[in-house]
Parts: sequence; C-alpha cells; structure tokens
Amino acid sequence: MIEKYDVIVAGGGPAGLAAARAVASEGGKVLLLELQAQIGGQTQSVSWVPNDLITSKLRRAVVIRLREVKLHSPHKELTARGDFGAIVDRRQFDKLLAAEAAASGAELWLSAPTKELLTSNGAVCGVLIEAGDWSDRIEGEVVIDATGARGEWSSLFIRKVMRDGWQRERLAFSNEYLMANVKDEKSAEIIFTSYFAPKGHAWIYPLGKGFAMAGIQGVRIHPDVALDEFIGKQAPPRLTGAVPVAAFRSQLPLEGPLNQTCADGIITVGGAAGQIYPLSGQGLRYALRCGELAGKVAVDAVTDGDVSKERLSEYERDWKAEFGFDFKVGGLLQSSLSVSQDQKMNAILHILEGKPRLQHAFIGVFTSFNLKDSLCVLLKNDEIARVFGREAVEALR
Ligand SMILES: Cc1cc2nc3c(=O)[nH]c(=O)nc-3n(C[C@H](O)[C@H](O)[C@H](O)COP(=O)(O)OP(=O)(O)OC[C@H]3O[C@@H](n4cnc5c(N)ncnc54)[C@H](O)[C@@H]3O)c2cc1C
Repeated sequence: MIEKYDVIVAGGGPAGLAAARAVASEGGKVLLLELQAQIGGQTQSVSWVPNDLITSKLRRAVVIRLREVKLHSPHKELTARGDFGAIVDRRQFDKLLAAEAAASGAELWLSAPTKELLTSNGAVCGVLIEAGDWSDRIEGEVVIDATGARGEWSSLFIRKVMRDGWQRERLAFSNEYLMANVKDEKSAEIIFTSYFAPKGHAWIYPLGKGFAMAGIQGVRIHPDVALDEFIGKQAPPRLTGAVPVAAFRSQLPLEGPLNQTCADGIITVGGAAGQIYPLSGQGLRYALRCGELAGKVAVDAVTDGDVSKERLSEYERDWKAEFGFDFKVGGLLQSSLSVSQDQKMNAILHILEGKPRLQHAFIGVFTSFNLKDSLCVLLKNDEIARVFGREAVEALR
C-alpha cells in the first residue's frame, strides 16, 4: 500500500528535525526518515554553539559552558576570557530535537534510508526507501532533503535535481578524536596553521573529567595523518599523555550554500544545501533556523495546493534574507585568510594581544555567533582591515 504524507523529510539531523517539527506544529502530516538506527547516530561528536541556541528543553545536552578561548598561530598564542557559548553533546542534542518534533506530531522512522526521489511530470512526489530486503514507496506533496553533506546517501537534491555530485574539492575533510586522560582545562583552543590544517584549523574542546574532543578540518589533507600529527607533535601541552578513545570522520561543504535550494515538490536544507559558515564550519544555527523556514513554507504550500518551485522559493528568499550576509562574510574572510594563512594569523594575534574587546570581536566573527556587531568592531581597526586585504574589506563594508 502506498502511504501519503503532506511532507516527507529525508534525514534526521538538526535541519530535518526542525523542519519536521515546524510542519507538525502547523498541523501538517509529516514523516521523517532517518538512515541510521538512532537519531544523532551519524553525529556522535560535540558542537560549539551560541547561548541563544540553548533553549530550556535543550539545556540537558550542554557539556560545558565556555568562559575561555585560547587562540594559537604558528608564532603566537593568547587567551580570551568572557562568555563564549557552550559545548553540546550532539547525540543528546539531536535526540532532544527529535523529542520536540515527535511531541509536535511528527512521525519518525529509524533505519529508513531514502534511496531515490519519486517524480511525476518532472516534479518530486515522494521517496523510495530501501534497507536490505525491505523497500517502500511513500508519497509526499513536498520532500525536504535534509540528508547532510557526507557521502553516498546524502544530498539527494544535488544528485537527482541538479544532477551534480558534491565535488570532492568542494568539501573540507574533518576528523576528530575523543581524547581521554587530558589535563583538565576549561578552555577551548583554536589552532591556525597551514602545516596540518590548510584553509582550516584544529581545535580542542573541553568536555570535563579528563576528556576533550580534538579535531581538525582543512582542504587537500589526509585527515587521519593530519590529526595524528596534531595530537602527536603539535598539540598544546594538555594533550601530552592523552589517548584517543573514539574517532569520528566527516566532511563538510565550506564553499557557501547552493544558490538553488528548491524545485517542483522539493526543498533542500542544512548541510545538504551547504548552509554552513565557510570560515569555521559552524552550521547548527543555520540548520535549525533554515529547517524551520523550510517546514513552514512546505506546509503552507501544501495548504495552498501549490508546491511548484515558484511557490516553494519563498523559503529560498527567506533564508537568503536572514543568512545571505553571514555566508558572504564567511566566504570572503575564508578566501582572504587562506592566502598566506600563517603570516596573516600571526599578524592578527599580535594585533589582538592585550585588547579584550577586539579578541571578542574576532571570536564573534570566527564563530559567526555575533557577526554584524563583531565585524563592525574589527573593521574599525585599521591594522586588522589591512590584514584582511583591501578587496575583502571593501566587499565586507
Ligand atoms: C567535524 C564537524 C564539526 C562541526 N562542529 C560544529 C560546531 O562546533 N558548531 C556548529 O554549529 N556546527 C558544527 N558543525 C556543523 C554541523 O554539524 C552541521 O551544520 C549540522 O549537523 C547540519 O545539520 P543537518 O541536519 O543539515 O545535517 P546532519 O547533521 O549531517 O544530519 C543529516 C542526517 O541525515 C541522515 N541521512 C543521510 N542520508 C540519508 C538518507 N539517504 N536517508 C535518510 N537519512 C539520511 C544522516 O544519517 C543524518 O542523521 C560541524 C560539522 C562537522 C563535520
């Protein structure tokens, strides 16, 4: 029997869960399909998020509040103090989002990989799910592709609608180790060096009780080798004697979002749409809000009886109006700072030394947590503006 929904969401990460919740909250019949056997099954790591993302319901996922961030370049390091948001456990965070979506009325299926999009007269009208011997065709007025950005199962929209794959060179590679026996400091550390993280950075996020997450992201690297190099020869002293007890591999698109994010009967959102801040790879905030926008537009379009690309492009206008600036700034700064990366980061850290307000502004721009205000502060400093480069600064202004 063919089942029918108003909206089918492929992918149970933050973007898909936010979309499913929005549809259900507006009274739409929505089914969310997750490839893995558990929500949060693919992302078992931790994320650094701004305070405003942590609603009372999501507070249980907070591992640690960040009051200190250490910045490193090849020849300089400094420590900034203040309120820098929190580290959340993604296994728990994503499950709490799932609880909210289900409480709103969304139906969630686990171990249900979306294999294909079903189409009729060129418009998407459902999905084929397939797992082992089991397969099922499910009809939906709108399909929301929230499958993330990492591999053969994901990015249905790009593969089937745009008929293009994620090109490997468009993806940054990222590896992380959960480290045990870490000297227990409470600071997050961000390490900028082209030696093992070209066009990227490495990080250590404190988790307490002797644990920390050490990670690295960059382009044209072998992430296993680069991460081993980082935790071996190059790591800050707190990792001396620490050992990896879990490994996580992932990819993320840092080229900015897709320009086209909807077609007849389909919307793409979150990592699948490239909605990730190019400078640092932050994406949770964008996934959650863009998922919400996608769900709202999808359910309204179904109610209106018009799920054409034109109708669904309201979603595209909405997310571009809200976040187009962020992705533009992140892209410009990423391009500017990845040329002569080491010299520029050395210069920036020298300029930031002894200037707490400027340090906060740099971290605000790097993370995108407080982008507009932080960027204003940074660009008022002529030395920083010179490091970013005239072209970038003109475009930013
Ligand atoms: C190493 C790393 C570190 C990061 N650190 C941060 C950070 O500190 N702060 C921050 O804000 N952001 C961070 N991000 C980015 C953030 O994780 C993403 O922006 C966010 O997870 C995107 O959410 P999503 O729902 O679009 O995709 P995902 O979280 O990738 O979820 C996609 C879901 O779809 C499922 N799926 C895939 N294919 C199918 C299919 N065919 N059928 C059904 N289900 C499918 C997957 O199993 C998965 O559950 C980081 C990313 C990486 C890779």
